[in-house]
Order: sequence, then structure tokens, then C-alpha cells
Amino acid sequence: LANKYNGLEKNVWVEFIDLNAKLNPLNLGQGFPDFMPAESVIKELAKSCEKEASPLLHQYTRSMGHPRLVKALAKLYSRLIGREINGMTEVLISGGAYGSLFCAVMSNVGPGDEVIIIEPFYDCYDPLVKLAGGTPRYISLRSSDPQDESSASWKLDPAELRSLFNTKTKAIILNTPNNPLGKVFTREELTQIADLCKEFDVMVISDEVYEWLVYEGQEHVRIASFEGMWDRTITIGSAGKTFSLTGWKLGWAYGPAHLINNLQVAQQNCVYTCQTPGQEALAAALELEIKKLGSRDSFFYKMVTDLKGRRDMMTRACKDAGMIPIVPEGGYFMIANWRPLESKTNLSDEKDDCADYRFVKWLAKTWKLLGIPPSAFYSKEHKSQAEDYIRFCFYKKTDTLLKADEILKQWK
Ligand code: PMP
Ligand code: GLN
Repeated sequence: LANKYNGLEKNVWVEFIDLNAKLNPLNLGQGFPDFMPAESVIKELAKSCEKEASPLLHQYTRSMGHPRLVKALAKLYSRLIGREINGMTEVLISGGAYGSLFCAVMSNVGPGDEVIIIEPFYDCYDPLVKLAGGTPRYISLRSSDPQDESSASWKLDPAELRSLFNTKTKAIILNTPNNPLGKVFTREELTQIADLCKEFDVMVISDEVYEWLVYEGQEHVRIASFEGMWDRTITIGSAGKTFSLTGWKLGWAYGPAHLINNLQVAQQNCVYTCQTPGQEALAAALELEIKKLGSRDSFFYKMVTDLKGRRDMMTRACKDAGMIPIVPEGGYFMIANWRPLESKTNLSDEKDDCADYRFVKWLAKTWKLLGIPPSAFYSKEHKSQAEDYIRFCFYKKTDTLLKADEILKQWK
């Protein structure tokens, strides 16, 4: 293994997907729905494979992204950001959001650069920054009110945040709605971050893959739309999360041409281009959705409305079992404090350093219910902040959620 990968061997997804295959538990671990995704996109994919369709749809498309798709995305985000986006120069299609994260970090961060990462963070941010030769600087969201059971009470300390910015700071990686916490950053919180980025000339990599999954009463705010922020922001999205088809592995980044061009340099020397038929299908589905945007007929509206019911089911199941859930304002994950049930566990056979890993493995083996240990979303120094929690994915069939509820009740 090349030196640069030393220390990066352990990966939470590889480990827990393996465990799932071995134990076959009820799977509320890795984030994906266990039902059919948006029908419109599937139909469009079938169309792109019909005999009458262009044979070129099965061949390589443009490296930066299939023209029809980049144009559809430009149209969508032009409306959402409030500025005219050029699909051909300001959008990149990648292998999932992972591909955009990889290209964004690799092509903009180098030795000597510091990158601010907010904990809990999607686990690949930290290794990416290190692989690029940069230095991660961490700051944790902390519950400002232990009685408050909403992710909204988890906040950054403004003075601590400011103290991380300096002349070496190259970028900050944001994730709203946040995985695994479900926090949706408010306009005020994003303004604080944006002001610091302008003061210290820092770019933002804004991972917004759950942009459509924001529950009533909250609003998804795009930092790229703030005054003076477009030129320094790369925003990342995912078809997997937008249309519930994580297996398609298509994602995108949009931002100013000079930054997107950096990502393109990374992409053209890596995968070069992404699969064409999926891009064509996605473009057609987006064109239809753009017309319905903001209406009750919109797939995004229906998806989040449906998901709120599942979130509420999961909250009830956790509470009935005696755990303390943190109710997410966005996304399809929930973290819950399992410590009140500790006396009903026997974790002594598990060897992991972090208690949440021991608990998640014990639960999967003993009760056949799988979650994810959230300390995977913290730096080495701060893992203890997450040990009291387990993460559940609740974007599952009602039947699956009812089964989870039954398991938790039996155990209790
Ligand atoms: N960012 C976040 C916050 C995620 O939860 C995920 C997982 N879906 C990704 C990026 C990667 O997305 P994709 O599957 O499109 O690569
Ligand atoms: N994003 C998904 C999650 O958070 C998992 C992606 C992966 O398997 N790497 O559960």
C-alpha cells in the first residue's frame, strides 16, 4: 500500500456492509431505500435503451457531463440560486457525489493547505483532505441544550469557528442537511460561515446531497446564493439522493467556471467520463421535475412528505424502546442515544475501541438489527463525542420500520 493510504484501511461502509452480509439483520445501516425509486427516471432509462433511441446513448459522452444533463441541472439551479448558470462551463457530472468530492478536494487542496471540517462529517472528507496533502482542522457541532431533542440545537461555537480561520485556510467543507445528524444549517449560521470565508479568502465545498429532504418548518439554504459567495463555492449534489437511486452512482458539482475547471482536470485524468444512459434518463426526469417545482405534484415534495411520516415512526420506536433520539430536520438518518439501555446489553465480547462500535455490533448479532456507529463521522481526537449514539436510516418500507419497532420492543 502506498504511504499516502497508510491509516486509511478501515472504512465504516466496507465493515458494516460485510457484517450485514454475514448476519442478515434488519438493515437500517447504509443509507438507501428498500423500495423502488422514482418511476419517472426508471421509465426514462428504459427509453434510452429502446431500439429507436440513438445508438450513441450507449457510448462515451462528454467528459464534463452529458450535454442534456448539464443543461437540465443548469436550468434547475439557475432558478434555485437566482443567477444564470452555464451548463457547459459551470457544471460537472461525476461518479456519485463521491466523485465530485474527490475532484473538488484533489484539484484545489495541496500541501500546506488547511481545510476546516465540521463534526460530525461524512466520513470521506477527512481522508480526502489528507490524501491531497492538506491538513484537516476540526470543529464540532454540539448540543446547546441537552433537553432539546432536535438536531437544531446542535450548533457551532462562533468564537471557536473564527479561531480556525487563518492565512493557510484553503477551504471549509459544509454538509447541509448533515449526515448523520440531520441538522439543517440556518441562514444565520451560513451567513457567519460565508462572512469568514470572504474575510479570509476561503472556498466552500458545500455537500448538499440531501437538499430535497428538509422537513416542514425548515428551509434548505444554498450558501452559493449569498452575495459574494458564488465565485468561491462548489456545491455538490447526488442523483442517488435526489431520485432515490443510490446504485446509479451519478452526482454533480456546480460553481464558477474557474473552480469547476479545476474539478474537470481531476476528472479527465481519472474516470474521464460517467455512464451515458443514466445521464440521459436523469436529464429527461429533471426536465419534467423542473416544470413541477414548488407544486404538490413535484416528486421532491412527495418524497419529503412521505419521509416525514417515516421519521416520526422511527422517533417513536426509539423513544418507546427507551433511547433518546435526536430528531433530524433533514435527511434520512437519525442518531439516538442508547446509553439508557446499557444495562440490558453485554458488550464484553466486542473488541472495538469505541463503545458505539461495540454496541452496534452487539445489537446486530443479538437482536438482528443493524445501525451505523457515528464515531466513524468524527476525527480520531473527537470520537468519544459520538460513543453514546447509534445512527439509523429510516428511508425504509413501513413494514421494515414496524419490524425494527418490534425488535426494539422485545429487547426492552
Ligand atoms: N455526501 C453525503 C453527505 C452522503 O451521505 C453521501 C452518501 N450518499 C455522499 C456524499 C455520496 O453520495 P453518492 O452515493 O452520490 O456518491
Ligand atoms: N451515504 C451512505 C450513508 O451515509 C453510504 C454510502 C456508502 O456506502 N459509502 O449511509
